Amino acid sequence: LAEAQALAGLGSFELDLATGKQVWSDELFRLFGLDPAEPTVTRQGILSRIHPEDQEALVRMRATLEAGTPSATDCRILLPDGSVRWVHARGEVKDHRGGLPTVVSGTVQDITERKRAEADILDTLSLLNATLDSTADGILVVDSDGRIRSFNRKFVDMWQLPESVLASGDDDEALNYVISQLKDPDPFVAKIRELYAQPEATSHDLIEFRDGRTIERHSQAQRVNGVPVGRVWSFRDITERIRLEQELAHQAFHDSLTGLANQALFRDRVTHALARAARLQTELAVLFLDLDDFKTVNDSLGHTAGDALLVAVAERLRDCLRGTDTAARLGGDEFALLIEGVGDTADVTALAERLIAALKEPFVIAGRDIVVGTSIGIAFDETHINTGQLLRNADIAMYTAKRGGKGRYEIFQREMHTAAVDRLEIQADLRRALDQRELTLEYQPIIALDTGQITGVEALVRWRHPQRGLLAPNVFIPLAEETGLISELGRQVLIEACIQGRRWQRLRPQDPPLTVSVNLSPRQLQADNLIPHIVEALTVSGLDPATLVLEITEGAMVHDTEAVVGRLASLKSLGVKLALDDFGTGYSSFSYLQRLPIDVLKIDRTFIGMIEKDDRKSILAQAIVSLAQTMDLVAVAEGVETSTQAELLGRMGCDQAQGYYLARPMAADAIDALVCGAPV
Ligand code: C2E
Ligand code: CA
Ligand code: CA
Repeated sequence: LAEAQALAGLGSFELDLATGKQVWSDELFRLFGLDPAEPTVTRQGILSRIHPEDQEALVRMRATLEAGTPSATDCRILLPDGSVRWVHARGEVKDHRGGLPTVVSGTVQDITERKRAEADILDTLSLLNATLDSTADGILVVDSDGRIRSFNRKFVDMWQLPESVLASGDDDEALNYVISQLKDPDPFVAKIRELYAQPEATSHDLIEFRDGRTIERHSQAQRVNGVPVGRVWSFRDITERIRLEQELAHQAFHDSLTGLANQALFRDRVTHALARAARLQTELAVLFLDLDDFKTVNDSLGHTAGDALLVAVAERLRDCLRGTDTAARLGGDEFALLIEGVGDTADVTALAERLIAALKEPFVIAGRDIVVGTSIGIAFDETHINTGQLLRNADIAMYTAKRGGKGRYEIFQREMHTAAVDRLEIQADLRRALDQRELTLEYQPIIALDTGQITGVEALVRWRHPQRGLLAPNVFIPLAEETGLISELGRQVLIEACIQGRRWQRLRPQDPPLTVSVNLSPRQLQADNLIPHIVEALTVSGLDPATLVLEITEGAMVHDTEAVVGRLASLKSLGVKLALDDFGTGYSSFSYLQRLPIDVLKIDRTFIGMIEKDDRKSILAQAIVSLAQTMDLVAVAEGVETSTQAELLGRMGCDQAQGYYLARPMAADAIDALVCGAPV
């Protein structure tokens, strides 16, 4: 018996309640870490070996036994070597007399191992629970009958299950509650049914909530010894992830400043639209828009204002379009539109006109009124055309519109393509031309209308192109502006014109001295090196600054009065004169004009050409002359082609004139002859 007890770790005892005498089995001694050979067991002795926290339980057990009821408890024995042994003690009445127990007996089982395993399990469980509760996933475990076995906190939060539903433990009610929140409950329910029928199956799908959330659902069998006993469902809220993905996708295909489609998306749309148009036999059009003088706004008002302008432009574009059209920003100040289902060319040109009109309205940016023009190129779908070709055509048409005078639209024509290729070639050639001094100047005399005397010359640049012959500035100045070569071009023109001017002043001393006029393009006016270039030319030539006239076109100036006035003032501080070129073609208000530090007003030739035929134009020309007089400016008429025009202008009080009738632009040595010889 003792052997069996030792094997089982089971000790036994007997206690005589009347005498307090105890009989212990050997194994019980050993459980207490005592030697069975010295059986001295006192109550005090035993208690001292019991873990203090368990002593009370043991005392209670004895009391229960004394009352005649079986009892049991777990307690810890403190062994002499300091270790702890867990035992399970149980006792019952063995003998009694007169209804009262006299002897109790029982067993004491070593349960240390079991306790340790339990503690391990508890540990693992609490770890598991903590993990489950801290995971971002909602977890639900159901048995094979669909009854809820367990779930974590996140699951409750995710499905917003009220306490009442949880407390009821009624899984039907919980399911109904869940279903009520779904956008589309049917597939959800179908999935659950399907999975009950296939306990082994795994599943993965997305669930959309009515409140906009998207939950990823994953389900797999819960197995015990490899046999499915239920199912674990995990749910993950991926709303934010989806939002981010969409956001990223949006960013990849939209312009962050204006929110319009970007180039990549636009190309994609055009490609699809072309395929659709071919299939459905419909027409489509692509429009390219480019803001005129946007760079001026950016340079003079700063990038923030430039950005604000682009946003405002995008806004107006949207307002002009139908829902099916696509608007894109291709970069910089370039926009593109895709118009599908075009009925008629006229529909598109009407749209272009609407767009130009809408964008012409002043923008209020940073408290200022800003006026920008728009040039539009239109390209229509053609048989077998691809996206790249269609966009290129629209681009070429836009370019043509811009060169045609801005603020207008052009429809792509075949010839434009050849012209575009030409432009590219010329652009490349221009670099070489500047290095090899292929540019020359012609000079057009400016004549006093009252005396017929030459008062000055205007320098007009020419390019003797080795293959193309003599090129007019209208052909290459815009290209020089685009490539930035205008700066070097302007420098060469200034130096050459000043040297010649000084030479003619020596050949023909007169009072006031001959003036030399040099044209400045808008881009040059903005450039930082303009003033150094002027100073250089004046120094090299020795020309009196007061005899140099810089011609600036009016239309090119954006209405940022402060910046323009400041710029012109710094030019004036060099002592040079300023002329407002092509006056009447821009948007200057008279009050604006008054603020500009200018000396000369050059009346654009469109006014002059009409004065013989058109009363209204002649009234306008007269008004401009009068305006110049009141503002104490020298009035110069441009493009005088007939004697009548010269005569009429003289009568109007216009001071000076230029034009083919008076003198054509000519080479420098022709001017030599002129200034040395008789009056013109
Ligand atoms: P602009 O300043 O208005 O120059 C006057 C233009 O009118 C010149 O054309 C001149 O040849 C032309 N013209 C003169 N008289 C008559 C006439 O009676 N009838 C007609 N129909 N035209 C006349 P051009 O030389 O082709 O110059 C065109 C424009 O190129 C100039 O217009 C000017 O804005 C620009 N430009 C010329 N040279 C330079 C230069 O050196 N630098 C810059 N930045 N621009 C220049
Ligand atoms: Ca001029
Ligand atoms: Ca002019």
